[in-house]
Amino acid sequence: MSALDQQLIPIFEEVLGRNPGEAEFHQAVREVLESLGPVVTKHPQYADSAVIRRLCEPERQIIFRVPWVTDSGKIEVNRGFRVEFNSALGPFKGGLRFHPSVNLGIVKFLGFEQIFKNSLTGLPIGGGKGGSDFDPKGRSDAEVMRFCQSFMTELYRHLGEYTDVPAGDIGVGGREIGFMFGQYKRITNRYESGTLTGKGLSWGGSQVRTEATGYGTVFFVDEMLKAAGDSFDGKRVVVSGSGNVAIYAIEKVHQLGGTVVACSDSGGYVVDPAGIDLALLKEIKNGQRGRISEYAARRGNDVAHVADGSIWDVPCDIALPCATQNELDLEGAGALISNGCRIVAEGANMPTTPNAARLLTEAAVRFAPAKAVNAGGVATSALEMQQNASRDSWTFAHTEERLAEIMRGIHDRCLETADEYGTPGSYVAGANIAGFTRVADAMLALGVI
Ligand code: NDP
Repeated sequence: MSALDQQLIPIFEEVLGRNPGEAEFHQAVREVLESLGPVVTKHPQYADSAVIRRLCEPERQIIFRVPWVTDSGKIEVNRGFRVEFNSALGPFKGGLRFHPSVNLGIVKFLGFEQIFKNSLTGLPIGGGKGGSDFDPKGRSDAEVMRFCQSFMTELYRHLGEYTDVPAGDIGVGGREIGFMFGQYKRITNRYESGTLTGKGLSWGGSQVRTEATGYGTVFFVDEMLKAAGDSFDGKRVVVSGSGNVAIYAIEKVHQLGGTVVACSDSGGYVVDPAGIDLALLKEIKNGQRGRISEYAARRGNDVAHVADGSIWDVPCDIALPCATQNELDLEGAGALISNGCRIVAEGANMPTTPNAARLLTEAAVRFAPAKAVNAGGVATSALEMQQNASRDSWTFAHTEERLAEIMRGIHDRCLETADEYGTPGSYVAGANIAGFTRVADAMLALGVI
């Protein structure tokens, strides 16, 4: 770990003491604090006003029981969460994750990151996150619907277009958003499209929202390449995961002239030297909710499926971790460096462990953090809210151009801020500082609330 500025040590100790056992939350806070030394030195008002201490404490945390009935009549009980972290810039905004690993610490790490990410977009959105330890995998559509209805029966009272606007994340796609929006509409008797984003196109959704996080990730990397006078042309790319973010990252890499040679799920990875066949991947993952091993089986002899191993062993020029937190560790980073990888950009949230990030940076691999790289998803959610508020719907081309423009803006803001604070070229410092100062200035203006 890097050292913390003296002024920030007591703040981090307070976070550790008040939030015991929440390792991922500690990691996310520390990662931001490590960048803020030059900021508190240059602007003592941030330390004097306790703005950083206030930022580390969520405005509100909601935990609730989610009982539901399986197809066979068994009663299951899950736990629901919504952490409304910071609303200085706008209504709380951030996804819902349904995965067995979800607990309060995970939701808090995601909500904390979301504050800075949303701030970086330049759009009027605060930060929040939520979810449940429910596992949609292997459940029928009817079971998923009953779960979503029960979840929303409690959560609806905390939501609203001016209050808190959830979206999808791991395990929450168009199907789940549909069931939750339906229940929200039914309970409130109001068609408030702006209360949830990631909706279907015929009922208030936005073009490009499905693709936005993956496309945005690749637009960001494209800017990194351009800044170095380079392009995607002929680049070999490894993308971990095969969910929403991964699939659309693969699509955009292929459109820009690169080749994605490997992708994965929690059961292993596939290597396809000719380039991932996206139509087949979408059919298996989106159509049949199947496993990546089926991809290798259907693609034939040249494609290997590796059940036990690390996708980071596959040689590449660019690596895009797009699955989950802490999936790229020290060993993975070492393998990427040995194989000549030049860029690592985080499509998933906090996928790189702190040690791995440090090793990559020391080896002069250009490393860009999630809060900048994957901000295209939430930015397009904000565009969805904008369309809902004006009862309008934009074309695919217009929305994609807005997304590309937002990603260019974030990229440039990161580099300019890194320069301004004496860490030229550091996307990590640039993203943390630019995200922090916008939200901190708003908090100062709003008084001690
Ligand atoms: P999906 O549920 O669509 O896909 C997740 C993918 O990651 C799947 O391939 C899944 O494999 C794999 N995965 C999940 N958990 C694990 C694990 N513990 N070990 C190994 N593989 C795992 O989620 P998304 O694509 O939406 O999200 C991926 C990441 O991107 C997350 O970090 C999320 O927070 C982040 N993100 C998503 C946004 C969005 O708009 N969707 C916006 C910003 C960030 P399997 O099916 O086997 O579980």
